[in-house]
Amino acid sequence: MKVKFIGAARAVTGSCFIIETDKARFAVDCGMHQGTSEIEKRNWDISVYNPGHIDFFLITHAHIDHSGLLPRMVQNGFRGPIYATEPTGDLVKILLLDSAHIQEVETGWKTKTMQRSGASTEAKPLYTLKDAQDTAPLIKTKTYESVFSPADGIKANFRDAGHILGAAILELFIEENGTTTKLVFSGDIGRRHQLLMEDPSKIAEADFLFMESTYGDRNHKGEEDSLNELAEAISYSYKKGEKIIIPAFAVERTQEILYSLHLLSMSGKLPKDLPVFLDSPLAIKATEIFRRYRSYLDSETQDLLKKGEDPLDLPQLKFSSTTAESMEINVMKGPAIVISASGMANAGRIKHHLKHNLWRPGASIVFVGYQAQGTPGRRIVDGAKTIRLFGEDISIKAKVFTIGGFSAHAGQDQLLEWLTNFQNKKMQIFLVHGEISAQDQLASLIRKRFGFAVTIPEYLEEINLQLGAPVQEVKKLQTAEPKISWELLLDDLGSKISRLSAQQEKLKSLPASRQIEIINLLLEANQRINDIKSDV
Ligand SMILES: [Zn+2]
Ligand SMILES: [Zn+2]
Repeated sequence: MKVKFIGAARAVTGSCFIIETDKARFAVDCGMHQGTSEIEKRNWDISVYNPGHIDFFLITHAHIDHSGLLPRMVQNGFRGPIYATEPTGDLVKILLLDSAHIQEVETGWKTKTMQRSGASTEAKPLYTLKDAQDTAPLIKTKTYESVFSPADGIKANFRDAGHILGAAILELFIEENGTTTKLVFSGDIGRRHQLLMEDPSKIAEADFLFMESTYGDRNHKGEEDSLNELAEAISYSYKKGEKIIIPAFAVERTQEILYSLHLLSMSGKLPKDLPVFLDSPLAIKATEIFRRYRSYLDSETQDLLKKGEDPLDLPQLKFSSTTAESMEINVMKGPAIVISASGMANAGRIKHHLKHNLWRPGASIVFVGYQAQGTPGRRIVDGAKTIRLFGEDISIKAKVFTIGGFSAHAGQDQLLEWLTNFQNKKMQIFLVHGEISAQDQLASLIRKRFGFAVTIPEYLEEINLQLGAPVQEVKKLQTAEPKISWELLLDDLGSKISRLSAQQEKLKSLPASRQIEIINLLLEANQRINDIKSDV
């Protein structure tokens, strides 16, 4: 059998692994590629997926970087079943409709911009609401710990990953020529002691492990520290009469923040007259799904619920479903907490709240989740002085808090600790779902500590999985190979740099904010070139 890495290969987003056995061709996860425009182009390259020839999908969890391209597959000929746990099924349905809505709205804006500049063509969405609606009936749900057979010779089992509601680690037992090979896909591995979620399941056996490595190079701060930092941000802006803006993913992070606010409220650290707005229709719907699947929550939360205490509620909590309600928050005077999506500030209502508050000294922007390269969230966290939103340069005067402890991902120590459960010393590991620097560090720690063979696959790499044999690469797809002449490319780059350097005076005459933006871009380019140099 062989596996092809179509996403989350030396990157965090776009999780998708296509497996071909002698009897079936199927995929684990179908995530959207997010981040730089170069990475996002991968969403359009349907030929590498060949969706008409995928028999079924197994989805580890609902996050868009694991499920967001399913409608694109359906749009392009996929008709098979999509297996997921019950909560994942429900969450995927609302997330895909939301994602399709975002695609359609953004395409509408693009078309208008193109038409204003005289073009007669229309921009096309990645997929439409109809594609998302057509995806829903294909979803077949399973519970944790119930082995099922999606195809002849293949058995699958979803086990609790402790990451978000319904998230699973996938065990696959594949029989070929009388031998059974066990593959384990970690999906995203949750952080231990995470609010609402059980700790990740311990798995004892695997022949091949496909393991996430998002935080392969660092640990999170403790839970207590995170609560204190959140309390600090709240008190900072509350005293100044300004708002506390929390960009949060609609699923899990929002609910964890609500739970944290509930805890702060119980300990008297949340002012009673401070309104809390949950300004995301999607997060409101996701919170309903959390309430529906109580048995998927951890035992502490279930105990609270049994006692009649609702950890997802606050006396001052207000839901803003409509756009009008959302806009009212921005004209409202005085302090408030605003939780809104998207978590990386690259789409959704949060962009409006940032536009209205980033420039206000005294306001707080509280990042509580992972910020991918190329997103506005990442630029703010990295210390940008201004940011462009809705065609306007917004200066950043608000206090920026980055609270790592709320992560739904295991940190480095926890990833290593999870590996101690595996008993088969000959297990081979493929590190996926991480930026290369994190993966390099984690790989060398794993080799040193456990002696497992570790491979960090590349985008579009194909690898033969053969028991007892070293990792053997199948020929890489044509699309993964450089099609461009090195000589021409480097010449072109060199001449562009010299033309730019001849225009320094012009650069200096641009508005300050534009200069800062260009400087940041050049610094980034400089860093990339350094990275390339160190590769060579
Ligand atoms: Zn995830
Ligand atoms: Zn993920």
